[in-house]
Amino acid sequence: MRALAVVNCRQLVTLAGPARPRVREELKQLAIVRDGALLIRDGSIEQTGARADLERKIGPEYDMVDAGGRVVMPGFVDAHTHPVFAGNRVDEYEQRAGGATYEQIAAAGGGIRSTVRKTRAASEDELFDSAQRRSEWFLRTGTTMIEAKSGYGLSLESELKMLRTIRRLNEAGPLQYVPTFLGAHEVPDEYRGRTDEYAQIVMNEMLPKVAQEKLAEYCDVFCEPEIFDASAATRILSAARRWGLGIRIHADQLSRSGGGEVAAAVGATTADHLEHIDEAGIQALHSAGVQPVALPGSVYALGLKQFAPARSMIDTGLAIVLATDFNPGSSPTPSIPFVLSLAGTHMHMTPAEAVTATTINAAYSVGRGARLGSLEPGKQADFVIHDCEDYREIAYFTGIEPAFETYIRGERVYSRQ
Ligand SMILES: [Zn+2]
Repeated sequence: MRALAVVNCRQLVTLAGPARPRVREELKQLAIVRDGALLIRDGSIEQTGARADLERKIGPEYDMVDAGGRVVMPGFVDAHTHPVFAGNRVDEYEQRAGGATYEQIAAAGGGIRSTVRKTRAASEDELFDSAQRRSEWFLRTGTTMIEAKSGYGLSLESELKMLRTIRRLNEAGPLQYVPTFLGAHEVPDEYRGRTDEYAQIVMNEMLPKVAQEKLAEYCDVFCEPEIFDASAATRILSAARRWGLGIRIHADQLSRSGGGEVAAAVGATTADHLEHIDEAGIQALHSAGVQPVALPGSVYALGLKQFAPARSMIDTGLAIVLATDFNPGSSPTPSIPFVLSLAGTHMHMTPAEAVTATTINAAYSVGRGARLGSLEPGKQADFVIHDCEDYREIAYFTGIEPAFETYIRGERVYSRQ
């Protein structure tokens, strides 16, 4: 592979720093090089620095990319998505616009269960084709890797179908996927009122198969009192740990479910949502080294008011992550730039903190911190040229997508032109 030199970067946002998730004041330190250049060889970053310092190293073997005075930064890592599903829920969107609540729609058989019915009926090829089309939406918004959950199958066969689809998507590329098994996303219709029996199926039938076929790196559970309460979530996640999977959890989203404490007790990598977590929960996450993943897109799309308490998480020293929660019901956006805007407007996170939370911290939260999330020598060359002069514009202007070109392993995978 030829070498690549990216020059004329008005701001080269490297996020160079300690080799661990960033906390407190570190969240604001983006290590920006003005008039920077980026040298790439064999898909990895060779060197970063001021153009004036690097220019004499650029020999004839380098292909040149002129960033045109734009902003260059690491590709976003979206650490929480549900990108594989059949159909969509535009009808429910219209009902909610007319005044129906998410809970009313779910009680009438809508919500996650309606996506489950359609996803069960779809073939693996159909799921692959629709998800592959959506994978372009991520590249177009500057995201180069997503964590992707199953959870619209809720039977052994359909959950495996979803995870095999995610594996195929990752192999097909260019978008990179980190697979998570979410068999405990909801209790399927045929097990209504028999949550414990369904949890047994998840633990005794699904988990062994998922682990043996190495179809997932993480296991996730939707922890809410009415769905999988703290004790059911603990049982399922402990079983997943015994199978060698990492742990993530949907916690404290619609109520104070105690999911934060469950995450701490089972040694989770992340606890996600957390709109209703309190100080005790935040302390529990801190003592156990769990990364919080805030998902403001779902608060916005459900028309709710309570966002995750990001400031108190940051002040406590948590290595915060922001993600889209992309899914057909409660967060139909793949756009991290939109999430950066929500984080500034509703969670009092500065643009720099939000960028750290969607790059280096997000990369650590999916076990890729040593390879992705910052532009430092030796790391994989996943980067984006954003069509702006100042990285803060990515959070400030909304409704436009600033990504101009997206690169994975030094290969251009999206171009606006
Ligand atoms: Zn989710």
